[in-house]
Amino acid sequence: MLQDRTTKPIDIHVHVVGTGAGGTGCWLRMSGWRRPLAWFMLRHLGMPWQALSGDFDRLWVERLLQWTQQSSLGAVVILAQDQVYDPQGRRVDQAGTFYVPNDYVFQLAKKHPQFLPGVSIHPARPDALEELDRCLAAGAVLLKCLPNCQNIDCNDPRFTRFWERMAEARLPLLAHTGGEHTVEVVRPDLATPRVLKLPLECGVTVIAAHCGARSGLWDTDFFSSFAEMTRHYPNLYGDISAFSVPIRGRHVPECLQAPLASRLVHGSDFPVPVYAYWSWLRGYIPLAACRTCERIPNLLEKDLQLKRALGFPEATFTRAWQLLRRGPERPSNEQT
Ligand SMILES: [Zn+2]
Repeated sequence: MLQDRTTKPIDIHVHVVGTGAGGTGCWLRMSGWRRPLAWFMLRHLGMPWQALSGDFDRLWVERLLQWTQQSSLGAVVILAQDQVYDPQGRRVDQAGTFYVPNDYVFQLAKKHPQFLPGVSIHPARPDALEELDRCLAAGAVLLKCLPNCQNIDCNDPRFTRFWERMAEARLPLLAHTGGEHTVEVVRPDLATPRVLKLPLECGVTVIAAHCGARSGLWDTDFFSSFAEMTRHYPNLYGDISAFSVPIRGRHVPECLQAPLASRLVHGSDFPVPVYAYWSWLRGYIPLAACRTCERIPNLLEKDLQLKRALGFPEATFTRAWQLLRRGPERPSNEQT
């Protein structure tokens, strides 16, 4: 069965979020304009606002599991989210929008084989290397970070050993690139894919989430820097997550071109809403395909079907199986 699923699409960018209900250890901070945004996202998930003060964490996982099982995906990588640390390795408790402990994603992945654990470790943490080894032993398939939101200057030479250890263990780094509007940004200057040079030079397989594309009107667009870097670094990839929001969609035609197309992997950035209408308005898909996508209530499946309709080659959806770290339960296809 496990052999089988590697021929199916995989979504490497899926968020689990929690309030800590049921002792999950998660937390969520929503202030100001993030409250209406959260309301909007919950509506897309078919979850009532009141869920936030109830059994939220369980409801989130139930919805995600149901949609994963009902989709054509073989698996999804669920992502932990570490806290913000300063360069001296001190935790900044007043910063950060949400926290998801590594143990929570391990626990979920153990229970549900469709979920693969993506961990998150701030490399400035005094225990960063120990935590990395612990997560490797527990079967982490990738490590996620948001340099501009978690205050991680990946090029800081003090992190060299951390990246080298990741490279040795063949644990890929999924790093957010480009502007960010859902999670609080603490270092806007770290949105550029150039921040990923040191891990790339240490030999880590790096996946630049969103390919450096901007998400807000006033963000800098780093897509061309990303595309240029893929020519220098054979170990650099990009994910096409949250590409269905209006502004990021403008790079779809370039993403379909060789050789860049062979460096892209599928991710949805669940629970980010998916709109097929923007792709139709841009002339990328016919109205009939747009309508077919809009009828799919399952966000994971809708995102996948929209990207197929946009013309992404089928390899985009399975390529990540070769990049993810092979955990103890993973099949024996070696990384390329
Ligand atoms: Zn994300």
